[in-house]
Amino acid sequence: MDKEEIINKLMAGEMKLYQIDKFTENATEALDIRREFIERHSNCELNQIANYTLDMEKAFSKNIENPIGTVQVPIGVVGPLKINGEHADDEFFVPLATSEGALLASVNRGCSAITASGGVNARVIGDKMTRAPVIKTDSVVEAVKVKSWFETKFDELKSIAESTTSHGKLVKIDPIIIVGNYVYPRFVYSTGDSMGMNMVTIATEKVLSKLYDDLGVHAIALSGNLCVDKKPAAINLVEGRGKTVVADILIPEEIVKSKLKTTAKAMEEVNIAKNLIGSAAAGSMAFNAHFANMIGAIFLATGQDEAHVVEGSLGITTAEDRDGDLYFAVSMPDLPIATIGGGTRLETASEGLSIIDCLGSGKVNKFAEIVISTVLAGELSLVGALAAGHLAKAHQELGR
Ligand code: NAP
Repeated sequence: MDKEEIINKLMAGEMKLYQIDKFTENATEALDIRREFIERHSNCELNQIANYTLDMEKAFSKNIENPIGTVQVPIGVVGPLKINGEHADDEFFVPLATSEGALLASVNRGCSAITASGGVNARVIGDKMTRAPVIKTDSVVEAVKVKSWFETKFDELKSIAESTTSHGKLVKIDPIIIVGNYVYPRFVYSTGDSMGMNMVTIATEKVLSKLYDDLGVHAIALSGNLCVDKKPAAINLVEGRGKTVVADILIPEEIVKSKLKTTAKAMEEVNIAKNLIGSAAAGSMAFNAHFANMIGAIFLATGQDEAHVVEGSLGITTAEDRDGDLYFAVSMPDLPIATIGGGTRLETASEGLSIIDCLGSGKVNKFAEIVISTVLAGELSLVGALAAGHLAKAHQELGR
């Protein structure tokens, strides 16, 4: 079938978009036909979407279905950012991709204050990826039996899960929550340098076949939303998910004044009023100014799963006036990231990771420390800007 025949069939609704590949030599040819069909169908021109350098054969094999091209987002760098981490101990230029003007300028100002102050301390304190299926039983009595099956067989279930992967390790199945006749076991894994969602899904599925063989009950859904994947949730905030990371810095009074144009006291006050009390009043789980801005931009630049920005946005910023110096800290309980697998395979993402030497095996903790340090830079700059405005206003009013 030639191109015109395929497009005519698509126009007539006689062929599905995903069936084009059956009639073409490769995924790239199918991609071009699919895009041409969309141009005709939607009466538009897609010259920019058609203009790309990614290897779409490779992308089609693992990262995208029904491709028609790529999207381009501007990428820039901030830095130098000095980090005193356990894994990242150097000065870095960090890639950020965004269409939000002023974001990089603001984060860069934070980097400048950090580097002038001797660097940010960053530590990874937790590492877990979770999958929690939902199992339906007949009664609470049966539900309790299922719960104790998971508890008493843990060692055996661990071997079953780990037989599916060479890097994934089942750390625990906890908590196991019962709601009426439903059971939600939260499988907690370490997943090496990959983000791990595919890995833990495959491993958990294998354990569930054993559950069916032993007890004759099966999961209604492989994800029962207690994971909690790609949604804001208190369990992730408390228990952690992905990497759990913390970072802090003490900024001398003169640098708060010269670089942030404010005082530690004003920043402490703004942080309490906005990030703590304001977020509490809103019922928010993100007690911070804008984690999502830095997370979103780093995720785009390095091929992370964009939907995990919602999890990365959870966390708390704290600020203290210490005799004029500023103590400033960010805590991120839920940062699902990877330096291997998923979108990190795409060429632009691999290049983004290579800027900070975080591509491949053995790099994920370093990457986590760089991400949180960049988040701290962005928080510092925005809270500083708000405090500077607050201070300027106070001075104006006093002047009158
Ligand atoms: P993946 O690319 O599916 O798997 C990672 C692979 O890397 C594994 O096969 C692992 O092999 C291998 N690997 C090699 N060196 C490694 C190392 N040093 N550390 C860890 N693994 C290493 O990626 P994934 O992280 O499991 O899943 C990420 C993808 O899942 C993303 O594309 C994301 O969008 C998608 N996702 C899926 C779901 C879902 O429910 N399925 C949900 C959200 C997101 P071994 O396993 O043999 O060790």
